[in-house]
Amino acid sequence: MHGRRIDHIAEKTANRIIEAVRQPCLIEDGQVLTSTSIGIAVSHDSQTDAATLMKQADLALYVAKGRGRGVFSHFEPGMDEAAAARRELEMDMRTGLSEGQFELHYQPLIDVITRRTVGYEALVRWRHPARGMVMPDLFIPLAEETGLVVPLGDWVIRRACQELAQWPAHLRVAVNLSPAQLRSAGLISTVMQAVAENGIAPDRLELEITENVLLKDNAVHGALLHKLRGLGVRVALDDFGTGYSSLNYLRAFPFDKIKIDRCFLKGLGESDETLPIVRAVIALAHAMGMTTTAEGVENEHQMRVLLAEGCDQAQGYLFSRALPAADFPELRRQSPVDAPKKTA
Ligand code: C2E
Ligand code: CA
Ligand code: CA
Repeated sequence: MHGRRIDHIAEKTANRIIEAVRQPCLIEDGQVLTSTSIGIAVSHDSQTDAATLMKQADLALYVAKGRGRGVFSHFEPGMDEAAAARRELEMDMRTGLSEGQFELHYQPLIDVITRRTVGYEALVRWRHPARGMVMPDLFIPLAEETGLVVPLGDWVIRRACQELAQWPAHLRVAVNLSPAQLRSAGLISTVMQAVAENGIAPDRLELEITENVLLKDNAVHGALLHKLRGLGVRVALDDFGTGYSSLNYLRAFPFDKIKIDRCFLKGLGESDETLPIVRAVIALAHAMGMTTTAEGVENEHQMRVLLAEGCDQAQGYLFSRALPAADFPELRRQSPVDAPKKTA
């Protein structure tokens, strides 16, 4: 059969499967949605053996998953190299974890009215011996897929709490949690231990969960979030406005804070499109007893708007990028050596 025709048949079949699985089904009172991703590999020359075809289909499936839900993808030659690069990165990351190559940088959270720093968000960095400083967008997604994000995330929680214990008592630390961490059995005990061992008040630790996480496993997360809150730690809804922004999960779970995603800050004050959204989110949060933080604040103009709209906190390059704790004078621990000497 002609190669293009086989491709066409495979695509049509894939689409039929995707459509069939996409149909919602009713379980008890709730509608359940499922989706499927498909990888396609075709032998055009009859030379490729079954094992290779399966491997190619698997690589294509991986790419399809990365493109979002409910799509198919064909195997393409470059996918082999991409997979090899991923494997290498994964191995490197394991070494990095055991050799202590990860570090935390901190970005201040600023009170909009007083302009005082009220806390810091911990953002992980990877100081790789050959690659240099690697930013989280490059390794968190892979860490998420391979499950490495669980030990990495546990380390982040422990490290952030250790540092927090050295900071002035009015400051909080915010830590990002990944979906895999929320699914892992050890999260509650990691948080409990980190708080107890460092002797910090639990409400000084704020856990940030992006709203996209909540789309899956609604019930599981709801129970887990309640447990976390039962420990006395704060829970913030991160990147609000980038997912479905469902009001349902705001009702189902009482967050302490909503973080307004930086995409809404971009045009703030310049175009009239984002202001009503920012205004509505702040009003909604306040009506439900939550505070708000605007992310990605880069100029004074945005600050004026945020002040006028009653946003509580701001975070962004206007104040500071994320830096090592030692770069913030207020976080520097005063050891007897560098404490100011009293003059008579
Ligand atoms: P996020 O939680 O939304 O973190 C904010 C990101 O926006 C940070 O990027 C920060 O440097 C950047 N940012 C802050 N202010 C501004 C600004 O004014 N303008 C612009 N354009 N960007 C600003 P970063 O550090 O590269 O982190 C990216 C993402 O990686 C984070 O997004 C978070 O989702 C993830 N991440 C970082 N650390 C961790 C971690 O320890 N665990 C997990 N699971 N994810 C992490
Ligand atoms: Ca965050
Ligand atoms: Ca965010």
